[in-house]
Amino acid sequence: MRLPVHQSKSTRAWYADGLNFQCTQCGNCCTGGPGYVWISDVEITRLATHLKMTEQELAKKYLRKISGKFSLKERKSLKGEYDCVFLEEMNGRRACTVYEVRPLQCRTWPFWDGNLISQNSWNRAGKTCPGLNKGRKFTQKQIEALRDAEDWPDRPPSSK
Ligand code: SF4
Ligand code: SF4
Repeated sequence: MRLPVHQSKSTRAWYADGLNFQCTQCGNCCTGGPGYVWISDVEITRLATHLKMTEQELAKKYLRKISGKFSLKERKSLKGEYDCVFLEEMNGRRACTVYEVRPLQCRTWPFWDGNLISQNSWNRAGKTCPGLNKGRKFTQKQIEALRDAEDWPDRPPSSK
C-alpha cells in the first residue's frame, strides 16, 4: 500500500526575500577544522599561470588528490587549526595570497548548497562567518546563480 503522503505545494525558498552578506576579510573561512577546497582543471591552469609554475609543480606543492579530485593542501597552525596552504599572516591580518585566482568554492561562499538548505544551516554558517546577514543584499536569483555557478562569477560575494 502507498500512503498518499501530504506534499506542500509551496516552492517558495526560505531566502526568497534575499539574504545579506558582506565579507569582513577576517579569514575564518580559510582555516578552522580540516576540510576541502576543491579546484577544477581550468582553475589549476589559472593558478599555475598566476604562480608562474607548471601544473605538475603546482600539484606537488599545493594540491592533494582525494578520490580522483584535487583539493588545496592545508597546514596545521600553532593554534591547531587547519589553514589553507595559501593563507598567510600579513600586517597582523590573515589574507589569501592567491586572491585574484582563488577557486570557485572560495568565490561563491556563503551561497553554498549546504548553507542554503534551511535557515538553520545558514545560521550555523554565521557562527564562524561574521559577514552573514550584513551589508550587501542578494536576491534569490543572484543567490541561486552563485549556488549553481560552474565558473567564476563576475562579482563574487566576497570580493574586496
Ligand atoms: S567570508 Fe566570512 S569568514 Fe570568510 S573572510 Fe569573509 S567574513 Fe570572514
Ligand atoms: S584559496 Fe584563498 S580564499 Fe580560498 S581557502 Fe585558500 S586562502 Fe582562503
